Amino acid sequence: MILSGCGAPSVGDVGAVRTLFAMDTMMQLTVYGEHQEEAVDAAQAEISRLEGLLSRTRSDSQITALNRHAGDGSPVAVDPDVYSVLSLAQEYAREVDGAFDITVAPIMDAWGFVSKNYRVPSQEELARLLPLVDGEQLRLEEGGSTVQLAKPGMAVDLGAIAKGYTAGRVEALLRSYGVEDALIVLGGNVTAMGRNYSGDPWRVAVRDPLDGEAYLGILPLQDVTASTSGGYERYFEQDGRRYYHIIDPTTGLTADSGLLSVTVISSDAARNDALSTALFVMGTERAEAFWRAHGDFEMVLVQADKTVLITQGLEEGWDFRGERNGYQYEILHR
Ligand code: FAD
Ligand code: MG
Repeated sequence: MILSGCGAPSVGDVGAVRTLFAMDTMMQLTVYGEHQEEAVDAAQAEISRLEGLLSRTRSDSQITALNRHAGDGSPVAVDPDVYSVLSLAQEYAREVDGAFDITVAPIMDAWGFVSKNYRVPSQEELARLLPLVDGEQLRLEEGGSTVQLAKPGMAVDLGAIAKGYTAGRVEALLRSYGVEDALIVLGGNVTAMGRNYSGDPWRVAVRDPLDGEAYLGILPLQDVTASTSGGYERYFEQDGRRYYHIIDPTTGLTADSGLLSVTVISSDAARNDALSTALFVMGTERAEAFWRAHGDFEMVLVQADKTVLITQGLEEGWDFRGERNGYQYEILHR
């Protein structure tokens, strides 16, 4: 997603670069500053710590404990970070009116997205599972130390928010080491802190969802996060149809909203991640209305008809590269 180059913000400094695989995705940290080596080590340790708490595929994580105790009436004691992600997720779910819901986990499992034994569940099976998808049945105790899921069979999956949350924690940690310039790439969540090697805003590319080799455009970004959700990386095909990992929580089906990808840009990394998923589920019309009602983010919507809609706050500096693959773009004005 990133166009790299050579040089450094302070001349001669190439930064501390760390590539790692965590949360089932590729991550890369590029950090500049006097304490860049210690800072990048601490950032990597923080990512591992959060993965250990937030993963639902690890048998010893706190999310696994929460899921295991669903409906048995016993509150599960959690770390402040786990409580924070869960309460933020609940807040965002309310904001987007059902398009984002971390209790979609039983539906993810029915489709085999976690086990990777992919299958198309029957309508009856989905109808049986849908009552378990209800973020309001996640009980967050006053005081912020215990949580529980009200019904047996419920489960949470933080795949749509935990990388954004982690990016926000990593950014704060890097700042505590005096770092002002860094690029934090956690899969499809890219946090651009300060400036790049040549003293300019970071240049972050929006991928062509239909061509892994191509970009649709490049955005100059500074002190914001860009989160992308799309149907082009985690999917399977059956009987000529593509089923991917973003689910409409109201139907239990692959979100089929006419969008190929959504990129959201804002200064709040956790909300940004949640919004990219939610706006993908909503589709253009609802996403546009949501953007008009909220002044605090920008977005790039890539429609299946190859029209790229970008909001006006991104117009300056937008470097369109989609012509070659038959795309055109339009600016959405407030
Ligand atoms: P996003 O659009 O940001 O999120 C999509 C993901 O969110 C889906 O994969 C699903 O998990 C969930 N989701 C789908 N629809 C909705 C919805 N409407 N509302 C809310 N959530 C929804 N993957 C593995 O295969 N194995 C692992 O061991 C594993 N461990 C992980 C550990 C952690 C801590 C995290 C954060 C992720 C892990 N993942 C793992 C990856 C995860 O399961 C998702 O595949 C991944 O996070 C997708 O992210 P994205 O940015 O591509 O998509
Ligand atoms: Mg997301």
